Amino acid sequence: MPAGSGSAPRKGSAARREPDAAFVLDVRSLGRRPGTMRELHRTVTTVERIGLDLIAVPVGAEIELDLQQQAVSEGVLVTGTVRAPLEGECSRCLEPFTDEVSVYLTELFAYPDSTTEQTTDDDESYRMIDDTIDLEPVIIDAFGVELPLQPLCTPDCAGLCPECGVRMAIAGSDHSHEILDPRWAGLAKFATASPGDGSPDEGAATAADHSADMASNMTEEK
Ligand SMILES: [Zn+2]
Ligand SMILES: [Zn+2]
Repeated sequence: MPAGSGSAPRKGSAARREPDAAFVLDVRSLGRRPGTMRELHRTVTTVERIGLDLIAVPVGAEIELDLQQQAVSEGVLVTGTVRAPLEGECSRCLEPFTDEVSVYLTELFAYPDSTTEQTTDDDESYRMIDDTIDLEPVIIDAFGVELPLQPLCTPDCAGLCPECGVRMAIAGSDHSHEILDPRWAGLAKFATASPGDGSPDEGAATAADHSADMASNMTEEK
């Protein structure tokens, strides 16, 4: 069975798309002697968004690959770190935020005539095709597992006020809506009317304050 003679592109994961050449490595020169190793340091600029609905590596971002390729008996083993910037939308307060993702890969790309190739389905293992390996589906799968389905702008994001929808980070921790006993509703109207004028000068004294003043004045004036 000749290796990769005119083989059509195989279907990998469901997210398979046109291969982005920047993610494809030619491993012919690595050879097949088990133990042979090669370092790979490459920066790839994304041409497609990679990630989930609320958080992803955006288009035009730089993905940093710090990988080792090692020939093993069944194929080429790729190990190392992949780093990329993220753009997300907080699932709690709905604000956009940026972050970074870093995953450690350990993936075997099976030789076309290897036992692994013959005993697994296409979607169970990655394959070497025409002496190349395509890292893109591996990275898409790894980020898909690593990224949160419900991302947060900060781990303790306070979200939105359930009463008025204001973002709690802006409103401050003392933001609240007093739920008043209906028996006091009349008084509450009276109490909240005054700060509403907003004028900080003394002319804005409340009716209640005013009457209190009068009362104290009266006692002072004998
Ligand atoms: Zn948030
Ligand atoms: Zn509120």
